[in-house]
Amino acid sequence: MINAEILKRFRAAPGKSVRLKDHDTGWAQTEELKELGKEVIRERAQEILDENLRELAEAQELLYADDRYSVLIVLQAMDAAGKDGTIKHVMSGVNPQGCQVFSFKKPSDEELDHNFLWRYSKCLPERGRIGIFNRSYYEDVLVVKVHPELLEKKLPPGKRGKKFWRERYEDINAFEKHLTRNGTVILKFFLNVSKDEQRRRFLERLENPEKHWKFSGADLGERAYWDEYMEAFEDAISATSTDDAPWYIVPADHKWITRAVVADVVTSAIQQLDLKFPKPGPEQLEELKLARQRLLGEQD
Ligand code: AMP
Ligand code: MG
Repeated sequence: MINAEILKRFRAAPGKSVRLKDHDTGWAQTEELKELGKEVIRERAQEILDENLRELAEAQELLYADDRYSVLIVLQAMDAAGKDGTIKHVMSGVNPQGCQVFSFKKPSDEELDHNFLWRYSKCLPERGRIGIFNRSYYEDVLVVKVHPELLEKKLPPGKRGKKFWRERYEDINAFEKHLTRNGTVILKFFLNVSKDEQRRRFLERLENPEKHWKFSGADLGERAYWDEYMEAFEDAISATSTDDAPWYIVPADHKWITRAVVADVVTSAIQQLDLKFPKPGPEQLEELKLARQRLLGEQD
């Protein structure tokens, strides 16, 4: 497990303004870690990931058997920050039946014909399951805030100033409150990659034929809005990190750190729930006894 002091650094404190410049995207998060050196930290991160994957598989089985809570994991980031790889690695040991992944792209006409939370509501995890949103309703206060013209397709006319966005954050907070009150544990991760590292990853996608498929011309277009995105992320995280649905700002310049942190937060959150394997009642015990007797009494 990751040291609690270090984990605390990643959690966006409710009610506090977030400044992303204060969040290191690399591995040397503290003086102590810096002294240990990159290779030691990399090995330690790998051990933490392995340990968590084993525990997550068990925790998820219990979540499923208990069948009262669900877990919603929200992943947001700039392109090439490692959302897909994080999902692949963190969920690698989990029973596929207990996990659902939804990726959200540009909304369709049908989706735009509804309120902005509609398409996400339809994909929420049922009790006993872990649901992962690869992008989420936060796009509606991120990409849409950076490109407000996207709003004009369907919404009634009105000012798209501070009040408009504040009301969207309020809607999101109310939606999340509703979900947590009904048994959904919400964990939100912003994979914090630096602009330099994104450039390096884009170049790798362009230079390695096996990675060409990962590159989209549109990604470069969005990179040009980097500062606007950082501001939108800061505003959204500051307004919506709550005790019930906290944001974690995860260093993402090294994939081994991102994966270890996400796996650790998810595993501990499930382990902290009061989960139990359902206990059979007296009637069910009697039924089990009779069933056993019947099977034992069968002739070969
Ligand atoms: P990708 O996840 O790389 O396949 O890209 C999906 C694209 O869909 C990204 O550019 C997102 O910003 C965009 N997208 C996702 N949700 C929304 C939304 N609600 N409104 C507009 N664009 C969105
Ligand atoms: Mg993409």
